[in-house]
Amino acid sequence: MSSTDFSLSLRDVTPPAFARQQVQLRLLDLTDIHPFISGNKWFKLKYNLAAYQAAGKTCPLLSFGGAWSNHLHALAYAGYQAGIPTIGVVRGERPAVLSAMLQDAESWGMRLEFVSRAEYREKQSDIFISVLHERFGEFEYLPEGGSNALAVKGCMEIADALGNAADVDYLCCACGTGATLAGLIAAAPVATQVLGVPALKGADFLYDDIRRLLACSGYADSGRWQLILDAHEGGYGKITPRLADCIERFCLSSGVQLEPLYTGKLLLALEDLLAAGVFPAGTRLVMVHTGGLQGLRGMNERLALQLQRFRNSDNRQ
Ligand SMILES: *Cc1c(COP(=O)(O)O)cnc(C)c1O
Repeated sequence: MSSTDFSLSLRDVTPPAFARQQVQLRLLDLTDIHPFISGNKWFKLKYNLAAYQAAGKTCPLLSFGGAWSNHLHALAYAGYQAGIPTIGVVRGERPAVLSAMLQDAESWGMRLEFVSRAEYREKQSDIFISVLHERFGEFEYLPEGGSNALAVKGCMEIADALGNAADVDYLCCACGTGATLAGLIAAAPVATQVLGVPALKGADFLYDDIRRLLACSGYADSGRWQLILDAHEGGYGKITPRLADCIERFCLSSGVQLEPLYTGKLLLALEDLLAAGVFPAGTRLVMVHTGGLQGLRGMNERLALQLQRFRNSDNRQ
């Protein structure tokens, strides 16, 4: 992947409700890292592609994702740019009309292979992988989300942006596979707690997954981290009225656009923790904007509908 010059810096985006409780919120924004490879996915792919190229490989890179996978989208573009063939194994039947994300991926030359949900669940099994080898011949395997030891190494560079800062109490990030969080845990300043907000329901398995990712990448587990397991709003991809409202309010107060799968749920979780009195006055939060805005193309209508519901509801504050 061609190197992109960037410097990450923190921006104060403290919303009014946080300011009233003297809690500061700053944004570590990864959305502009690369024109097509969104946010954390650039960091996750960086060393994986470098290793593939250093080994002089020419076989396709194969990985896994859903119809709106930011990872497959990023991988397709990175492969296109570097002249590496890519294969995306996609969960579910091929739809009559491809999602905008998969259309992009195909236009960048990614070969899409749709598999049933049952098959997809076996994505890590030796049997399924050997079936894929029968179908595609040799390939380089990248796990779902690109989440492996080299991804963790790349994501450490996100936390490096904080240097040795002693002024970050919590570094907060949304989680899918947890590889990004593992990188933050490995590289966060010593005085910083790392807070992960899983987008999935029932994500307590992430405690093990994250420990395993840290162990296999050889980085120490600081132990200074925790997951907020009940901030998924009903599960992955679920958009609730209060989530739509949270995203809208933040956009109005800060000018920053979030999306509802990951970063919106992260902010909503922080708002709920604030309301529950978890952050004393003087707390300094940093929230990582992991990107994903290209996926909004498939969600704007649902977001607008849920925002309408919020405004019509009696629960409005
Ligand atoms: C993929 C993704 C995540 C989750 O990253 P993991 O390393 O799988 O935890 C978070 N936010 C956005 C916007 C993403 O696209």
